[in-house]
Parts: sequence; structure tokens; C-alpha cells
Amino acid sequence: MSRIAFIGLGHMGSPMALNLVKAGHELVVFDLVPAAVKVLADAGASAAASAPAAVKDAEVVISMLPASKHVEGLYLGEAGLLTQIAANTLVLECSTIAPESARKVAAAALERGIRMVDAPVSGGTGGAVAGTLTFIVGGAAADLESARPYLEKMGKNIFHAGAAGAGQVAKICNNMLLGILMAGTSEALALGVANGLDPKVLSDIVAKSSGRNWATELYNPWPGVMEHAPASNGYAGGFGVDLMLKDLGLAAESALNARASVPLGELARNLYSMHSAQGNGALDFSSILNLFKK
Ligand code: NAD
Repeated sequence: MSRIAFIGLGHMGSPMALNLVKAGHELVVFDLVPAAVKVLADAGASAAASAPAAVKDAEVVISMLPASKHVEGLYLGEAGLLTQIAANTLVLECSTIAPESARKVAAAALERGIRMVDAPVSGGTGGAVAGTLTFIVGGAAADLESARPYLEKMGKNIFHAGAAGAGQVAKICNNMLLGILMAGTSEALALGVANGLDPKVLSDIVAKSSGRNWATELYNPWPGVMEHAPASNGYAGGFGVDLMLKDLGLAAESALNARASVPLGELARNLYSMHSAQGNGALDFSSILNLFKK
């Protein structure tokens, strides 16, 4: 069993780290929020007082942070974590960030002989708890093979998207589609209800018809339709509106860089932006329904 440093114990990082503890690994964990560290310490992990303390003697380092600025802030610079991590250590960076940031950090790691892959995930908090996440990896194939035994304890599907940063490109494309589908699903459900339908009945129909998608199958945005979806829990937990907004911003940036057109992605970004500006940034992204609900 390996000694793993896990940094970032939020909605996703916490259940991912718990699955590694359950698999018998020795985890040393750190988060800026002490309560998040305590959950893991209570489950058998060692609590570190800082990120550098967590990575000391670690064979594997895993990070799950909100955005590019947090990842660059953690790893880069004179006091950055890369100066504290031993050569040949394997680093799995699982946050969803800009491909350019992922490449920058991976190149800085390589200069120090540290093996790093970008390994963003899909599957939501439910997938993180169940250990059924999809990992979308960018980096050297040999490093992915070294990472595979750890990824398999947290996920079910593991893809190699290409070189460093490619995992992020694929993840951003996926999440742009997710943002569009959640807004579209919300619009359709609100239309049906405004015309007298029961949201549960309409959801059951769509889930078995050609409009079905991840939201209708696993993550229905209408409160009460799915017991375990964030919508039925006041839109608490799950995947924050501001995180979806970040991903749609990354899609817009990627489109600009490649001169690609993403009109639906841009419309979705504007909808989530409006929703966030109304004070909903910390709610689960399926609360976009409230923009459409009468
Ligand atoms: P979150 O905000 O719940 O958790 C992030 C954690 O990182 C927080 O606990 C925060 O305190 C910690 N943190 C930030 N900077 C830190 C630092 N320098 N050192 C230590 N800890 C630090 O976010 P989340 O929902 O867990 O998402 C994490 C990443 O995963 C994001 O990039 C998100 O886009 C992506 N993601 C989320 C979901 C989801 O359903 N929530 C699904 C797939 C991917």
C-alpha cells in the first residue's frame, strides 16, 4: 500500500480520498478548511498542518482544487509544492482547470523529474462517493499506467485523452455539453409544468424518450423528482453554479484560442452568469431551473 498525499477535500476530494483510505492506502491529507480535514482524520487518514507537510515522503500526490489559480498557486513559484516533492513522485492533478495551466504545471514538474498527469473527473459527487468516476487523463502513457491502480479505487472508466493538458480539453468539452443539457432540461421541464404536467411524470417520459440525458437519468433539476439529487436537498452540495460558470468560461477561452464557434456554450455561460449574479453561485448548478420556473 502506498503513502498518498491528498490536497483539497471539498465536495469531490473528500469522498475520493475516503475511497483510497477504504482501499487500505496510507493517506496524509490537507485542506484550508480544518473541518474538511477532520472528516478524513476521523476515517483513518493523517491530518497534515500544511500542503508541504502532507507531501513529505509521499509516493503519490493527488490534488482536487477549485480552479487554475488555486492549482498554479499550490504547485508553482519559489515556495510552490513542486520544490517540496521528491523527484520521480507521481502527481495526479484532478481539478478542472485551463489546459494551458495544466501544461504549465506539468512542464515545471517534468523539469524537476516529477511525473505529473492531468486527471480531471466526471460523474459528480454521487460518482465520487460510489467510486465510479470517469477519469480523463492527459500526460505520458507510462505515467497513466502508474496512476491506474489509484484511479481504479476512485473510478470505473479511465481514458487517455492525449498529452499533458488533453485531459482538460476533453473535460471542458464534456462540461460545456453538460451545462447546455442541464439548462435545456430545466427549460423543457418548466415548459411542461407551466402547461399543467406533473414534473415527475414528464421526467419519466423524457427519461425513456429521445430527450433523455444525464440530468433526466441521474440528476433531475426539479425538486422532489429524484430523492438523492441536489434539487431535492435545497440544491446543497453537488457541483456549484460558480464551478460550472468557470468551466463554461474555460470553454469560451478554448474556443477563442482555436477560432471555434460555441454559440450554445456561450448562451449557457450567460445563463449561469446571470444566475450566479443573483446570489446563487454556491448552489448546485441544477438550480439553473429557477431561471425558467414560473
Ligand atoms: P469544492 O469547492 O467543494 O472543494 C475544493 C476544496 O479545495 C475546498 O475544500 C477548498 O478549501 C480546497 N482548497 C482550495 N485551495 C486550496 C489550497 N491551496 N490548499 C488546500 N486546499 C485548498 O470543489 P469540488 O466540487 O470538490 O470541485 C473540485 C474540482 O473538481 C473543481 O475543479 C471542479 O470543477 C471539479 N469537479 C467537480 C464536480 C462536482 O460535482 N462537484 C464534478 C467533476 C469535477
